[in-house]
Amino acid sequence: MLRGVTSLRKMSSYSGRKLTAVVKELENFAPLSLAEKWDNVGLLIEPHNERDVKKILLTNDLTEPVMKEAVEKQVEMIISYHPPIFKPLTRITKSNWKERVVAACLANSIALYSPHTSWDKKTGGVNDWLAQSVTIKSIRPLIPEFGCTEPGTGSGRLIETNMTISQLVEALQHHIENDVHVALAVGHDSKTLVRTVGICAGSGGSLLRGIQADTIITGEMSHHELLEFNHNGTTVLLCNHSNSERGFLRMFAPKLGELLQGACQILISEKDQDPLVTAVRVSECRPKASSTINRS
Ligand SMILES: [Zn+2]
Repeated sequence: MLRGVTSLRKMSSYSGRKLTAVVKELENFAPLSLAEKWDNVGLLIEPHNERDVKKILLTNDLTEPVMKEAVEKQVEMIISYHPPIFKPLTRITKSNWKERVVAACLANSIALYSPHTSWDKKTGGVNDWLAQSVTIKSIRPLIPEFGCTEPGTGSGRLIETNMTISQLVEALQHHIENDVHVALAVGHDSKTLVRTVGICAGSGGSLLRGIQADTIITGEMSHHELLEFNHNGTTVLLCNHSNSERGFLRMFAPKLGELLQGACQILISEKDQDPLVTAVRVSECRPKASSTINRS
């Protein structure tokens, strides 16, 4: 029996990297100075027990089911696109799920890093990934990053294209591998030709407000923002907040593996999902994954 257990615990073929070295590569990929002033990015949890990073879990949101997965998969580091710590924590107790997640990271010596808006502005980052759903004739940031030497860096994207709305919806559904909500502009129909597309991953209502575009693609916005866009001649395509961001991880995983020269195993969370699903029938709703965290 003991021999069986031993054979299951094969030695990892990954040599690992120091946490500081992994953080340095992440900051080289997307400098933290790109992040919005209000954001909370970078290394958010540094474990007291220093250990080499051999396994990294990528997730869009560090929910309790994802935390449980990280503990079970024995990762040394989590990269969560959205920062799980945003407002200052005044205590770490069991009464709040965010506090429980922080406690689980500390108890299991798991480091936590969040890039958030630094990945949004980065050339080849989250917004450029979302833009891949469009046939691009030209692309530029909606708000270019002041003083940045890398072309294409900045907030949001504005694309010139030549697609009908139905072609764009189909391409977007295929790209995000999920449902899309369509709010047609007054006077538009599925055959309307789209020449300009505004893009903002996540919640784009305020960044995209007032832009002149035939269509905009974002994750979510309010009812009244939708009406405003639709009456100003802009069709809105909504992906649900995190579905407009999550797919970037599939593109980033091999990139990070390369940056770390194969020293670390890069996993993408299997439990990370948008809280919203489109329910055709209530009985077809996916159950939420179990959220019990096993502590080491
Ligand atoms: Zn977001």
